[in-house]
Amino acid sequence: TPAGRETDVSVAKTTSPPGGGRPAPAADPLAWLADNERDRRAAGLRRALRPRAAHPTPALIDLAGNDYLGLGRHPAVVEGAARAARTWGAGSTGSRLVTGSTTLHEELEQALAGHVGFPAALVFSSGYTANLGCLTALAGPGDLIVSDALNHASIVDACRLSRATVAITPHGDVDAVHAALAAGGWRRALVVTESVFSADGDAAPLARLHATARAHGALLVVDEAHGLGVVGPGGRGALWAAGLASEPDVVATVTLSKALGGLGGAVLGPVALRDHLVDTARTFIFDTGLAPANVGAALGALTVLREQPELAAAVRARAAQLAALTGAPAPAAAVVSVVIGDPEPAVAAAAACLARGVAVGCFRPPTVPAGTSRLRLTARADLTDADLRVVTEVFAAAQVRAR
Ligand code: PMP
Repeated sequence: TPAGRETDVSVAKTTSPPGGGRPAPAADPLAWLADNERDRRAAGLRRALRPRAAHPTPALIDLAGNDYLGLGRHPAVVEGAARAARTWGAGSTGSRLVTGSTTLHEELEQALAGHVGFPAALVFSSGYTANLGCLTALAGPGDLIVSDALNHASIVDACRLSRATVAITPHGDVDAVHAALAAGGWRRALVVTESVFSADGDAAPLARLHATARAHGALLVVDEAHGLGVVGPGGRGALWAAGLASEPDVVATVTLSKALGGLGGAVLGPVALRDHLVDTARTFIFDTGLAPANVGAALGALTVLREQPELAAAVRARAAQLAALTGAPAPAAAVVSVVIGDPEPAVAAAAACLARGVAVGCFRPPTVPAGTSRLRLTARADLTDADLRVVTEVFAAAQVRAR
């Protein structure tokens, strides 16, 4: 339009350097990255990507991944992915509201809701986008989000994006949650927590949090990323185990990428919540729908869990063994947190384990608070007694011991 052209001209004028001609070469706008990198290196915080080969060293024992039940390579799960890709194609072709919803997505939503015990579920492209979409659709300016100090980065980011008032409460401190809600001044309030904390492996006091939230008319939002598939009968999650799964004032978020072995996320709750998210959750509306292969894999994983409910108890038992080996606190699920302290000895212990054929996670700031760098061990349902004997020897040699 002529009006548009006028605007273009005025923009061009204001950005032209005085006197016309080419702008003088500026200093490299990314030069600061080198200084920043030196600081991170000095603090022991440089990170390296270590791409896995297609055929891993046969002897490598994986205590670093989140494939808690070994479903990522389960034939029924891989075949579920392959069949879905053959039927529907490699991508979902669009956002869920345009062309990206298939009947397979709806099948997965019903299966997930049934497994976790909620009336309805809505699938997102990841657990991260599920948390972002859920919290930003439920809270805004004038609202209060009470968030545990150790909540995952996706929850932290969701709180910030929501533009609600955020009260960060000390880890697991229900009295502080009560005090934050009791202070008032909010229109609506949400209490948000992980059910099993991703770095520490401990459990949230869900029953007490729910009672506190309910007493104030607040919604309880629980990230079951590390609870699904591991906690509760058949891995139905911590909310099911606490008898809270179908409460009208409880919402769950999950990832399909840990115990279920694939990729994707979901929000679970009442039907009205699902409808609200379909209309308003930005990471649902503006993100391409989850690829059919990921949907098929998750459906396959839920089928395996239904047929082998004992997998959840098996991984919890292995986690308890890993904790006993290392002096770590008793874990609530599959995650065992061996706090070392400074980043350098944590990195050295992880390297010593890897050199001896055992892969362990190493978490440093900013993933965990300063002074709490740690080895993060993840148990797997498919660890054998022979694996455990190797791990015992390797941990002794590498001096893997909670401080
Ligand atoms: N919440 C928690 C507690 C997590 O640990 C993770 C994964 N690191 C996520 C959410 C994000 O899930 P996803 O990897 O599927 O995006």
